Amino acid sequence: MSESRPVPVPDELSAPYWAAAARHELAIARCSRCGSLVIPPGQACPQCGSTDPQYAYKTMSGQGIVRSWTVIRQSFLPGFDVPFLLVDVELAEQPELRIIGRLLDGPDAPVRIGAPVTVAFERVADDVSVPAFTLAVDTA
Ligand SMILES: [Zn+2]
Repeated sequence: MSESRPVPVPDELSAPYWAAAARHELAIARCSRCGSLVIPPGQACPQCGSTDPQYAYKTMSGQGIVRSWTVIRQSFLPGFDVPFLLVDVELAEQPELRIIGRLLDGPDAPVRIGAPVTVAFERVADDVSVPAFTLAVDTA
């Protein structure tokens, strides 16, 4: 039996993100001033500098490409079987819109920079799921 994993605790700004994840949708905050998607949403928009960005969450396609990855061999959190791959994914919706997640294809998955991935979700508790990724069929 592995220990149960820590569960994310949403704050006011991230609550819609976690609510969407629980429905297995990837929703990203969008600045209503300049229209930029922002990860993670802070008090000020990193693109236009507005301190009143009035974020609205937008559902993403879940498509992206791998920009880098790392093999995690030693778990610093309970409930993760090691080794596993952690991928840094650029989402299709906006250049440099990056999100990090586990790759669910196993530690020996044929990952490479530029590989297309699709978002998937790992259920970690009742009503709590965290975004992760799987390799998409490479049509290139
Ligand atoms: Zn902005």
